[in-house]
Amino acid sequence: MTTDSDLVKRLRTGSLWLRDQSALYYDGDSDAADDDIFSEMLDVWDTLVLDLYRARKYKGCIFGEARCPEDSVVFCEACKPYTTQTDMKI
Ligand SMILES: [Zn+2]
Repeated sequence: MTTDSDLVKRLRTGSLWLRDQSALYYDGDSDAADDDIFSEMLDVWDTLVLDLYRARKYKGCIFGEARCPEDSVVFCEACKPYTTQTDMKI
């Protein structure tokens, strides 16, 4: 069974991956993940974040005190209200 902290770890890793891939994409780097993989990862992230905050009632940021990095592509529920960057898409 997945614990809350497993889920938080996956979301952190996913958030950083999405940020890095998005940066590579905008740089025109050929190592960037293609659109299909990127949107698939985005869907997985959305599902996991809903599970954590809605189903498990998790409080706080997945990055803890540090909060989600400002240049993130996705933000946890705790950081979401303070940003408009969530509609940034490839
Ligand atoms: Zn956050």
